[in-house]
Amino acid sequence: MIVIHGASAISPNLLILGGTTEATALARAAHAAGVTGTVSLAGRVAWPRDQALPLRIGGFGGVEGLAGYLHREGITHMVDATHPFAAQMSTHAVAANAATGVPLIALTRPAWRAQPGDRWAHVPDMAGAVAALDRDRANVFLAVGRMHLTDFAARPGHRYTVRLVDPPQAPLPLPDTRVIVARGPFDVESDMALMRAHAIDLVVSKNAGGTGAYAKIAAARALTLPVIMIDRPPIPPRPEAATIAQVMDWLAHAGATERGV
Ligand code: NAP
Repeated sequence: MIVIHGASAISPNLLILGGTTEATALARAAHAAGVTGTVSLAGRVAWPRDQALPLRIGGFGGVEGLAGYLHREGITHMVDATHPFAAQMSTHAVAANAATGVPLIALTRPAWRAQPGDRWAHVPDMAGAVAALDRDRANVFLAVGRMHLTDFAARPGHRYTVRLVDPPQAPLPLPDTRVIVARGPFDVESDMALMRAHAIDLVVSKNAGGTGAYAKIAAARALTLPVIMIDRPPIPPRPEAATIAQVMDWLAHAGATERGV
C-alpha cells in the first residue's frame, strides 16, 4: 500500500491516461501496490487490452470536461501515459492540471535515435511525410495508424502496406493497399519477413520510441531500406518520469497537499 506523506495525507485516486503498453504496465504496478484508480482510453480500438484497474472509455470533452471529471471523481493524481503522438490529450492534461491543481506527471519514453546503418529522412509531421512521398511509385510500409491513412490519399500512386489493430470497417482511402491486421509488440525477424514478402521499398514511421514498435525500424536497417521518420509533435512542458518505478515514487511523495479540487 502506498503511503502519502504530508499535511493532508489522503489515499491516492489515480487517473492514468492510457492507450500504451506502458500505461497498462503502470496500472498493473499501481494495482499491485494497492492504489485505487482508473485507466482512461480514447476508444480507438475495438478490443482494448485487459487493465488491472477499472477502465473508462471515450473523450472527456476537452479541457473543461477533463477538469470536471477530475473534480467529480475525486482524482488526486494524474499520469499521462499516452502515446507521444497523442499531443492533444497531453496538452489537455497540462491545462487541466493548471486549472484544477491535480498533480500531473507524464510517463514518457525517449525518442528513437538513428544508428549506424539507418537511412532516415526526418520530417516534422504527417504532412511532411506525405510531401516526402512525392516520388516514383514505391511499395510503402505505412506504419502511421488508422487515423492518419486519409492524409496519404494525396499520394494515391504508391502501393501501401498498412498494419492495423482492427480490421477496417470501411474501404481505405488509398486505392492500392494491403492490410495486415496484427497487434504489437512485433519482432525484427517477422518484420523483415513481412518487408521481404511485400517487396517494401521504404517505411513511413512515427518516432514513437520504446521497444514495442521498434522492430520495423531495426528490420528496415537490416534490409537497408529508407525510413521517413516523423518527428514527435510538441507538447507543453510538464514533469516527466522515465520509468514506472519513478511514477510510483512520485505517487508516494507528491501532490497530496497540492490538490486544488
Ligand atoms: P489525441 O489526438 O491527442 O486526442 C484526441 C482526443 O481524443 C482528445 O482530445 C480526447 O478527447 C481523446 N483522448 C485521447 N486519448 C484519450 C485517453 N487516453 N482517454 C480519454 N480520451 C482520450 O489522441 P490520439 O493520438 O488520437 O490517441 C488516442 C489514444 O490512442 C491515446 O490513448 C493514445 O495513447 C493511444 N495511441 C495513440 C497513438 C498515436 O500514434 N497517436 C499510437 C498508439 C496509441 P476529449 O478532448 O474529448 O477529451
